[in-house]
Amino acid sequence: MRILIAEDETAISGFLKEGLEEEGFAVDIAGNGRRAIEMAIENIDEYDIFLLDWMLPGMSGIEICRNIRKINKTVPIIFLTAKDTVDDTVFALEAGANDFLKKPFAFVELLARINVLLRNKLGEQTTFETEGISLNTEVHQVLKYGKPVDLTQKEFALLEYLLRNKGYVCRRTRIIEKIWDIHFDKDTSVIDVFINSLRKKLDVPGHDSFIQTIRGVGYRINNKT
Ligand code: CA
Repeated sequence: MRILIAEDETAISGFLKEGLEEEGFAVDIAGNGRRAIEMAIENIDEYDIFLLDWMLPGMSGIEICRNIRKINKTVPIIFLTAKDTVDDTVFALEAGANDFLKKPFAFVELLARINVLLRNKLGEQTTFETEGISLNTEVHQVLKYGKPVDLTQKEFALLEYLLRNKGYVCRRTRIIEKIWDIHFDKDTSVIDVFINSLRKKLDVPGHDSFIQTIRGVGYRINNKT
């Protein structure tokens, strides 16, 4: 899951980035309004959620929100702002925001609200399965034939992405865009490292890997069980 945060206060954006990355999100930061709208438009299909500060240099969060809504009606948008009157809240919701969180807020509350919006966006499905492997996003757990397997955040995110797209080829460039942030240098060979560690942890020895390599294109988990 990839998030764009538009926030000019680096203390806040740094804190959010660190916290959200610990939760397995890929996080990009835009420090002003113009940069935020550029990044949003350029990568609109890659972002799963937007966190917008209201007061930003260059372009306000409200304008960014309206511009995002012109090209995407459904991607979740949360406002993070010191403004908190009923009028402000209504104004933000009318501009197309899904939720509104008053600063200062508790990180756990933000995380809970993000998870609610993502659940609604993705439907209620929280468990994804294939051949003896089951991944649950709510309890953040992977089981191999019923036994828990320890994965790193990136391994978990990669497995979740492949399982959500079970039966389809996941292109290497798409995987990078979804799971790594914008500062990543787009060297897609890093994916192989994570695919290998997933195979090492989850394959059944002596059997074909549960992740199929589509040479020159990407990877696929087959639509069997
Ligand atoms: Ca601000």
